[in-house]
Amino acid sequence: MITFQLINMKKELNDNWDYSSSLEAINHIQLKKKYTLFIDGKWIAPSKNTYFKTINPANEETLAEIASASKEDVDLAVKAARKAYTNVWSKMPASERAKYIYRIARLMQERAREFAVIESLESGKTIRESRDVDIPLACNHFFYYAGWADKLDYAFPNRKIESLGVAGQIIPWNFPLLMAAWKIAPALAAGNTVVLKPAETTSLTALKLAEIIEESGLPPGVVNIVTGFGETGAAIVNHPDINKIAFTGSTAVGKIIQKALVGTSKKVTLELGGKSANIIFEDAPIDQAVEGIVNGIFFNQGHVCCAGSRLYVQEGIAEKVIKKLKQRMESLYVGDPLDKNTDIGAINSKEQLQTIEKYLKIGMDEGAEMYQPKCAIPKKGFYCAPTLFLNVAQSSIIAQEEIFGPVLTIQTFRTVDEVIQKANNSPFGLAAGVWTDKGSRIFNLTSKLRAGVIWANCYNKFDPTSPFGGYKESGFGREGGLHGLSAYLKLS
Ligand code: ADP
Repeated sequence: MITFQLINMKKELNDNWDYSSSLEAINHIQLKKKYTLFIDGKWIAPSKNTYFKTINPANEETLAEIASASKEDVDLAVKAARKAYTNVWSKMPASERAKYIYRIARLMQERAREFAVIESLESGKTIRESRDVDIPLACNHFFYYAGWADKLDYAFPNRKIESLGVAGQIIPWNFPLLMAAWKIAPALAAGNTVVLKPAETTSLTALKLAEIIEESGLPPGVVNIVTGFGETGAAIVNHPDINKIAFTGSTAVGKIIQKALVGTSKKVTLELGGKSANIIFEDAPIDQAVEGIVNGIFFNQGHVCCAGSRLYVQEGIAEKVIKKLKQRMESLYVGDPLDKNTDIGAINSKEQLQTIEKYLKIGMDEGAEMYQPKCAIPKKGFYCAPTLFLNVAQSSIIAQEEIFGPVLTIQTFRTVDEVIQKANNSPFGLAAGVWTDKGSRIFNLTSKLRAGVIWANCYNKFDPTSPFGGYKESGFGREGGLHGLSAYLKLS
């Protein structure tokens, strides 16, 4: 009787769950109306004088105008990067290079709140994520790689170490500043110069980073930031004087890039899509696992290439896990990314929302059972309620293709061998999660799951010291840690 009353009380609490809004202030941030290109340490208007608008996906209002770099602009940036590499950066003592990278890290840290707000305004991710995860991690990447810059001989003992030259780097919209840090910091520490292109819907924090780079006194041309769409990216990929391409984005564009680079001497790393399995065994700590599932797919709107988008639950606990998961989903708050209570912010663009909605329809047409909590969704802006699909076949499109939204498919399994087969039955192999009480089982699975990163009893945990990257169509090469550094070096 008492238990029954408690359950009812909890249910009432959940039904009436509401917080007063707690909006992050935006009056301290400074955005220009129009952003030009950052080339050779100067702000340069695009040669064709073309600009595009970047909007806030939470309310569809314009934030700024961004320059669209042409092939000629990219050429200018590559020339500046080559000149800086040959004349300055490659000749500078490594300990001096390190000082600049430390300085960038410290300046970023000082302006962390401003970066977090701009990141949330433009990408739609919650302020909680950008403030507590993205920006601190981005700073940490600069700190971490600054530490290696003058210790390359210790990082790779008994090897001949040479930098590569000019690195062309193309990044996506899901972790705009963090991806820029993942790319720029190891490239600089290894002694290379950089031409970086942010994604067209999220250019602002990369441009703010350019302001910090300017302030840090980094020699002109060492880092160049060119903004624009796919053609700008393609101009970087196809430029003959680039030595290394680092790309993070969709598998489709990754394949185009790989084809374009065949027969060239350019070194390449590709970090592409994912459809990662989150596996819950009967002996798992269920409440923590449910929180891990939510963290793995719903926080950050599912805009994570390693999102735990396929859930595999051992049969004996499936009913319990699904019930708890639905309860937890009822309390998720979808709304303004700048509200500190928000769990699920805005989808990054209208196009991405349409893609997610297309998959929701496919899931229902395939006969899966869809569940969405009764959460309020703002009328303006691009939002998607957290979604579960039950009764999903392994071969169904929603279990095989990357959706890149807060959408989770759920399947059950009985044995370890069965779940290994199911988890590996995917064109992707970026990440996986394993929830169990048994260390031996974790080690067994980590050696058999074809995924670049495997989290045990947690999900989506990142650290600059640990490598990240995929198998199969999730790409190749590693970023982070020493592996990430070696990707910017010629080691012999
Ligand atoms: P997503 O689906 O995550 O947006 P994309 O692969 O479309 O991923 O975009 C990732 C990055 O690649 C963006 O900066 C985008 O502008 C760039 N890009 C798109 N098409 C090309 C291309 N053909 N060559 C090089 N870069 C491209």
